[in-house]
Amino acid sequence: MSNCLFCKIANHEIDAKVVYEDDLVMAFEDINPQTPVHTLVIPKQHYDHIGDDVPEELLGHIFTTAAKVAQIKGVDTSGYRLVTNIGEDGRQTVIHLHIHVVGGARLPIRMGPAD
Ligand code: AMP
Ligand code: ZN
Repeated sequence: MSNCLFCKIANHEIDAKVVYEDDLVMAFEDINPQTPVHTLVIPKQHYDHIGDDVPEELLGHIFTTAAKVAQIKGVDTSGYRLVTNIGEDGRQTVIHLHIHVVGGARLPIRMGPAD
C-alpha cells in the first residue's frame, strides 16, 4: 500500500532499527517502547490485520520470527508476550499487520484468568 508507514519501513523508504529481516518479514524496534524489549514483527506484504486473509504459511512464519526475535533480544528464557491489536476496540493505530514482542520486565497485566 502506497501510503502505509509499515510498508515504507518494509521497503526501506523509512528508517527503522531492524532486528531481523528476510524476504517475507521484518522485525524492528518500536519507536515508543512500552517495555525494555519492544520489537514489532511485520509481513513485508501489506495486510490490515491478522484477519485479513493472511496465508497460513506466512502467519506461521511471522510467529516463528517473533520467537526468533525473543531469542535475539535475550528474553526467550525470562519470558515475553506477543500482542496484536486489531481494529477500533483493539486500539490498532497502524493499519498494517504487526506483532508486538514485549518483555524484559515483569509485565504489568496478566492476560487470562485472575491469579
Ligand atoms: P498498534 O497500536 O498496535 O497499531 O501499534 C503501532 C505501534 O507502532 C506503536 O507501538 C508505535 O509506537 C509504533 N510505531 C509507530 N510509528 C513507528 C515507526 N516509525 N517506527 C517504529 N515503530 C513505530
Ligand atoms: Zn502496509
